[in-house]
Amino acid sequence: MILPVRKFDSLVIGAGGGGLRAALQLAHADANVAVVSKVFPTRSHTVAAQGGVNAALANVLPDNWHWHMYDTIKGSDYLADQDAVEYMCRAASHLVYELEHAGVPFSRLDNGKIYQRAFGGQSQDFGGAQAARTCAAADRTGHAILHSLYQQNIAAKTHFFDEYYAIDLINDDEGNILGALVLEIETGEPLVIEAKTTLLATGGVGRIFRTNTNAQINTGDGMGMALRAGIPLQDMEFFQFHPTGIAGKGMLITEGVRGEGGYLVNNDGERFMERYAPNARDLASRDVVSRAIYMEVKEGRGCGPNKDYVLLKLDHLGADVIKQRLPGIRDTSITFMNVDPIEESIPIYPTAHYTMGGIPTNRFGQVVVPVKHSAEEAIPGLYAVGECACVSVHGANRLGGNSLLDIIVFGRSAGNHIVEFLKSNRHHRPMNWDSVEQAMQRLRRWDDTSDGESVTQIRIDLQKEMESHCGVFRTEEILKDGIEKIRAIKARMVNARLTDHSNVFNTARIEALELENLVEIALATIHSAYARQESRGAHSRVDFPVRDDKNWMKHSLFFMQDEQLDYKPVRTKPLTVDTFPPKERVY
Ligand SMILES: Cc1cc2nc3c(=O)[nH]c(=O)nc-3n(C[C@H](O)[C@H](O)[C@H](O)COP(=O)(O)OP(=O)(O)OC[C@H]3O[C@@H](n4cnc5c(N)ncnc54)[C@H](O)[C@@H]3O)c2cc1C
Repeated sequence: MILPVRKFDSLVIGAGGGGLRAALQLAHADANVAVVSKVFPTRSHTVAAQGGVNAALANVLPDNWHWHMYDTIKGSDYLADQDAVEYMCRAASHLVYELEHAGVPFSRLDNGKIYQRAFGGQSQDFGGAQAARTCAAADRTGHAILHSLYQQNIAAKTHFFDEYYAIDLINDDEGNILGALVLEIETGEPLVIEAKTTLLATGGVGRIFRTNTNAQINTGDGMGMALRAGIPLQDMEFFQFHPTGIAGKGMLITEGVRGEGGYLVNNDGERFMERYAPNARDLASRDVVSRAIYMEVKEGRGCGPNKDYVLLKLDHLGADVIKQRLPGIRDTSITFMNVDPIEESIPIYPTAHYTMGGIPTNRFGQVVVPVKHSAEEAIPGLYAVGECACVSVHGANRLGGNSLLDIIVFGRSAGNHIVEFLKSNRHHRPMNWDSVEQAMQRLRRWDDTSDGESVTQIRIDLQKEMESHCGVFRTEEILKDGIEKIRAIKARMVNARLTDHSNVFNTARIEALELENLVEIALATIHSAYARQESRGAHSRVDFPVRDDKNWMKHSLFFMQDEQLDYKPVRTKPLTVDTFPPKERVY
């Protein structure tokens, strides 16, 4: 079969903040760069980020990057790689000013400086008083950043393939990545994009859970592509449950609400976080607050007819603050709950939010794989950044506002590294049509018109099983059962079909390809969770309630083949400063 081919220096898969920041760096260095996105770029999930981006600008309270580094490592429950965290926190201020100059309309203080709000897990002076480090454009920061980055890319002449779906990476027998097979969604036509470097920036995988804050498109496609290419996924057991999702529905109510002075109450009207985190209270880190809400409901202090949620109170902030600083969440609350937070409290419950794990990379965005036990090397020409990657700056628990920072910092550093790589790799390698054919088979498999099970039903079942077997609290028994449940779902995939063939849009094919990714990533997540016999950050094992640094201060690596797990050490040595040694984590 002869397929159309397009050639570029660099292929970027994903047009969220991570992909666009990398593409911009490349386009400014005159590289010929293509960005592929399955939705129009400005619909990527980055657009939904509300609260803001962290940088120690010290516009509101005293601050510096070293305190930010400490908070990030403590927040990660000491699983983050300290060299990457130092790199990120040092770069933050410069890159936020760069965004400002690129046109991001940040909210302002009266003196004209960028407005910064308090977010969870932020402190002054290594664990002292609350800091205010999150730079915000009202509660629509991601929207502002994504639109600015897109406009900058248009100006820099980045080539966009809008509404193209990447199916799989193409590689040769020596393991070099040659580009990707993509599908034009509107026409259903496949296309080979050949490139000297390929960067995965496909975002997170919140869609493995039923109740989540993520967009429909967050199906972990890049992680699925990596797994099929023999690359492991790192630290997948660490999935962040955001404490304040709209109860029963899952949409996000930003932590910025608590940063502005909102707080949680139970059915007795009690401000219960005072019991769980006496100092930081409602601004303890997310894993801590999510567990507290779960406990309140479990112990019968939940609100509503079924006592199955708690309330987020913000009416005391006054109509002006809510309208000016939190207009988006007011809209969300009115639209989905018919609750106007100016007058009433919002019913909330934890919801699946952020993928801490992902494709293993170093701080230059290079994808790294183990060669021998505990050694690793970079795959030449393959990069990953953003929520699909694990660099790892978030470790076992991400701090709010650090993800928008992650994508701009490592998007830029990957772009810089690619520019250098291209200088010494000037030619395309020969195409490997066997690898293209393999990817095509994945696509053709969905042309089968025989009877079978509905893709949608399998996805719904997968999400339910993940929610009940891999949620906020975990035990060996539940996880073990969960592995069998997910394996059974994977087995059902053999008979999955696009049910109504007389009326199939390409979007149905896309949904099927996405489900293949979801199933593999769910398996990676639950296997890694079953294996880790300790509680650390977002991974909370009722049967192993304490953190075990002696045995478990290490990153997990899950390989799709034979469902194998391996481990590698945490990089505890920063670039220039002293290591932050593990301490008990109290807020
Ligand atoms: C509701 C919400 C609010 C948030 N608020 C904040 C916040 O205030 N502060 C903060 O720091 N973080 C926040 N986060 C987290 C943060 O927004 C994300 O982690 C980050 O924006 C991810 O960026 P990304 O570039 O990695 O991926 P995304 O923005 O998710 O983009 C992924 C891109 O990949 C493309 N893609 C995926 N698969 C394919 C495929 N197969 N083929 C082609 N293209 C593909 C998509 O089209 C898209 O362009 C929030 C997240 C959510 C869900």
